[in-house]
Amino acid sequence: MSTTVNVNGIEFQPKLLINGEFVEASDKATFNVINPLNGSVSCSVPEATEDDTNRAVAAAKAAQPAWAALDPTARGACLKKLASLLREHKPTLAHLEAISMGVPLTQYFHADIAAEELDYFSEAWPHIQGQSSINTPGYVTMTLRQPFGVVACIIPWNAPVFFFAVKAAAALITGNTVVVKSSEKAPLAVAFASTLITQAGFPPGVFNVLSGHGVPSGRCLARHMEVRALSFTGSSRTGKLIQEEAAKTNLKSVTLELGGKSPAIVFEDAPDLEAAVAATVAGFTLNAGQFCIANSRVYVQASIAEKFTKAFVKHVSAIKGGDPLEATTGMGPQADEIQYKTILSYIESGKQSGTLAAGGNGKLDSTKGYFIEPTVFRDSPEDSKIVREEIFGPVVNINTFETEEEVVAKANDTEFGLYASVFTKDISRAMRMAKALESGYVAVNCSSPTQGRDLPFGGWKGSGQGREGKLYSMDHFMETKSVVIKLD
Ligand code: NAD
Repeated sequence: MSTTVNVNGIEFQPKLLINGEFVEASDKATFNVINPLNGSVSCSVPEATEDDTNRAVAAAKAAQPAWAALDPTARGACLKKLASLLREHKPTLAHLEAISMGVPLTQYFHADIAAEELDYFSEAWPHIQGQSSINTPGYVTMTLRQPFGVVACIIPWNAPVFFFAVKAAAALITGNTVVVKSSEKAPLAVAFASTLITQAGFPPGVFNVLSGHGVPSGRCLARHMEVRALSFTGSSRTGKLIQEEAAKTNLKSVTLELGGKSPAIVFEDAPDLEAAVAATVAGFTLNAGQFCIANSRVYVQASIAEKFTKAFVKHVSAIKGGDPLEATTGMGPQADEIQYKTILSYIESGKQSGTLAAGGNGKLDSTKGYFIEPTVFRDSPEDSKIVREEIFGPVVNINTFETEEEVVAKANDTEFGLYASVFTKDISRAMRMAKALESGYVAVNCSSPTQGRDLPFGGWKGSGQGREGKLYSMDHFMETKSVVIKLD
């Protein structure tokens, strides 16, 4: 049985949401969610079985025709209500996230952006449209955009409620029904958000939510014959496994938002060096470095490298880890022990390959929390592990360059291509760089996590497949049908 957790005086017991009912796993199995602040058990949560996953998909399939047949404004009304409930319960969601993956209350914006996305999609139904044409003589032709049917959404742990909302909202407004599987590292806030789904008025079976590990429930969704589209955000390793399962079963339509190793490039003519330092420090320490677009590779033009690195290290050294529930905490612990140990092993490898300029320590022994000091390396070889692999922690390397051609070659010499940033006053150079960088996103004179509100988001190369964001997300959840009508 799952256990209860007390949030500011309210008892909450996480359950699976299948066909409008809150249930335990079919075999009553659970797993523990560990508080990364101190290693204690926050709560135990149902581990969805294959049977539970099959039941959730069957419920979604049964509910889909009626959901798709509704007036789209009625679908939108459920999304809008869910948005307002997420806003109302933000303090609870923030607390649950703090005790499962360590995000500080002060940095908890996931509920706000989740609600914004739900609001947007609640009114986006007029965009569900095909095209018509009279270019075939003797015929009128048209395309219809129609839902896939059952859509699965598999989400990561670094911004769970945001991914839960943004993926489901686009799928639901277009007339699909969904099964969302949360991450085993951070299932609590999503489980709480699932209690708001019934309050928001979604009919049973339309919006199902499972907690559990990748295997069995995630893998079961990836290989399920009745799941017609799957939207995944997570590691490149898992993305490949999901794509493989889809290829081996029903060739479901898969979109993948995967990892990154994003370069930030600072030229000697950066408009404001201090601002470039602040932006690139935030760009690798936000969420304790656990975000896909972290600028974990910084390239600085040699003429300003000493000045930049000195200011960078000073800035980094001022960041202190602390209890995510405290109002003054700027950086929380890593999400769990696995993350903690993985990051420390990268730091050890970095000490062998480059020069440690700041940080470099974990603090598990003294605090019992999975804290890691923001860590800066410099002059690491381009082929070293810490320059090539995604670390997903507060670790950055600073290397230098002389010319634009040299830094483009270095920045692009990676299998990733999610986000890149450039700091320069020269507009022509900024545009040359924007064109040359192999990346789904290029930021000029700002860095991650800065994004445009209505731009597509997604990766080049191994960082993903497909684009998400506003209308781009809706596109993934609709099939296109061509209709040809012969005229008399
Ligand atoms: P992960 O791949 O370990 O897990 C993601 C999800 O996949 C979880 O729900 C997990 O249970 C599930 N999963 C694991 N094995 C599975 C399997 N065999 N079949 C189906 N599902 C399976 O990733 P994570 O550790 O949760 O997240 C961190 C990664 O996500 C990083 O690489 C990060 O860069 C990436 N990420 C990317 C974006 C983006 O938009 N591009 C955003 C956030 C995170």
